[in-house]
Amino acid sequence: MSQVRVQTKVRRRRFLSSVIQAVMATCLALIFSSGFARAGGPAFKVLAFYSTDVEPDHVKTAKDALAFYSDLAAKHNFILDTTTDWNKLNENDLKPYRLILWLNNFPQTPEQRAAFEKYMEHGGAWIGFHVAAYNDKDTHWPWFVRFLGGAVFYSNNWPVLPAKLAIDDRTHPVTKGLPATYESPANEWYLWNPSPRLNKDVRVLLTLDPSNYPIGKKDIITEGDLPVVWTNTKYRMLYINMGHGPAVYADPIQNELFENAILWLGNGK
Ligand code: ZN
Repeated sequence: MSQVRVQTKVRRRRFLSSVIQAVMATCLALIFSSGFARAGGPAFKVLAFYSTDVEPDHVKTAKDALAFYSDLAAKHNFILDTTTDWNKLNENDLKPYRLILWLNNFPQTPEQRAAFEKYMEHGGAWIGFHVAAYNDKDTHWPWFVRFLGGAVFYSNNWPVLPAKLAIDDRTHPVTKGLPATYESPANEWYLWNPSPRLNKDVRVLLTLDPSNYPIGKKDIITEGDLPVVWTNTKYRMLYINMGHGPAVYADPIQNELFENAILWLGNGK
């Protein structure tokens, strides 16, 4: 073998070994980077249900909610998935989600309702907004009424109006850091009879201040205990009455409440 051929062979070997080293280094880098990606991955997953074939104002406010919660998802590194398909309320589809939202509707079929009951009875978390908790004599879902702490829709004001809200309990993670009262943007406020406050398991966090009465023009609420945000402590749940108005997501104090609510139930704390 000539000296030239030996040198060529050596060069080839060196070249090959440097290629192998480069490939190994790339593989290691990929393994490490995916490991780091996992370590800094999303904190939790949220699935927001809404409908587009309901009252136009409710659709509009749900879209405002989706914009607001998308920004929050980016800020707090959680995943927000959205759907208008309420058949996704089934055991398999709910599995990846720590928290579900109902922005402007509630399930209609026995299968969807049964899947929701199972999800909540096994540690799932829920935030319902506005009409999500609507129920009356035609709803025929007793489990849901108990879940809400006994609240049955009674009446509402019309048109939508701003209102002074009192924060009943400022020690809860949802209301922490909020003032004792604030002026909430225009909303259609729901009065419940019975009031969920009568239930010993319910913790009312916000109430419509009685100084608002009478509230409404076409439909007027003149009196009554009107809890606005509450949790049934037997479940990981929160009901928020806001969800019908042109600027529900435009108030910094109220937005803090919404933010706290997602983090409280999303982080499971
Ligand atoms: Zn409404």
